[in-house]
Amino acid sequence: MNPPVIDNLLVVGVGLIGGSLALALKRDGAVGCVTGFGRRRETLEQARALGVIDRIADDPVAAVAAADMVFLGVPVGAMKSVLQIIAPGIGPGTVVTDGGSTKCGPIAAAREVLGEKFPRFVPGHPIAGSERSGVAAARADLFDDHRVLLTPDPDCDADAIDRVATIWARCGARTDRLDAEAHDRVLGLTSHLPHVLAFTLVDFIARGKDAAQCFELAAGGFFDFTRIAGSDPVMWRDVASDNARNLGDALAEYIDVLQSMKTLIDQGRADDIEQVFANARRARGLLVDHRRGQTS
Ligand code: NAP
Repeated sequence: MNPPVIDNLLVVGVGLIGGSLALALKRDGAVGCVTGFGRRRETLEQARALGVIDRIADDPVAAVAAADMVFLGVPVGAMKSVLQIIAPGIGPGTVVTDGGSTKCGPIAAAREVLGEKFPRFVPGHPIAGSERSGVAAARADLFDDHRVLLTPDPDCDADAIDRVATIWARCGARTDRLDAEAHDRVLGLTSHLPHVLAFTLVDFIARGKDAAQCFELAAGGFFDFTRIAGSDPVMWRDVASDNARNLGDALAEYIDVLQSMKTLIDQGRADDIEQVFANARRARGLLVDHRRGQTS
């Protein structure tokens, strides 16, 4: 086993992502002690009982001062208030990182709250997860063979970036660097937009007069398409609010695409409909082949 790279990790928000990070690092012997801090005591006690954390922090500032790395695993809407709580404890050797699904919002919050300590903040986003949430869903293998996107500002300390890349490598993940604006634009299309579509489709059907019969007769395709509508509404509310500009642009373009498809359907243009479906199937097939090639 490789030697530990962190003596004291503080996880703020011990849920699916923060808890999985702690478990993955423990699995690899990469961390000495994991301390948890969060909102509800009950969650932290559950995390300790599950062996996800070793200690519960009663005083967050003291816990930050004792940590060499702090991971923020809270919804993106809570990042600023959490940074305000922990900021006084951040010393010159502390690295702060996060796992938020949007990056421009957390970076702006960190810049505003941390001031001269901002270069110690390394923004990150693990491209792994699940529709499940909470510490009971945390898994040591969640990040195995997955990517983590790091979106550091040019002001960020190179040493802090290296340390964060190292901890993700010890979790079985590979890190890539991306500009934060590009991250939010691209993830807006491939992650945030699909979540909005899944949530709104289920809500639309649930409110309809045939809801009971629709759900009774729903087949595999409906479950496949709507799996992510089982995700945490607060987390996704925050993502939608934080990435509103990109999501708004993506929705506007997609509404135009749906309007065009409606026209094809209304006009009975079967060949044109088939062409759209065939193009989508081809693109998806290439994507699946590419992914298989990456993991084999
Ligand atoms: P989660 O399982 O719901 O865990 C969130 C944790 O944050 C909980 O322990 C919660 O504490 C705590 N928390 C919530 N609000 C807080 C506040 N105001 N102050 C302090 N603690 C607070 O969520 P998650 O799925 O791990 O997501 C965590 C982050 O990772 C989010 O930023 C999300 O965007 C990002 N992310 C999620 C996924 C995914 O698939 N789920 C994937 C990649 C990135 P309580 O238990 O006390 O409520």
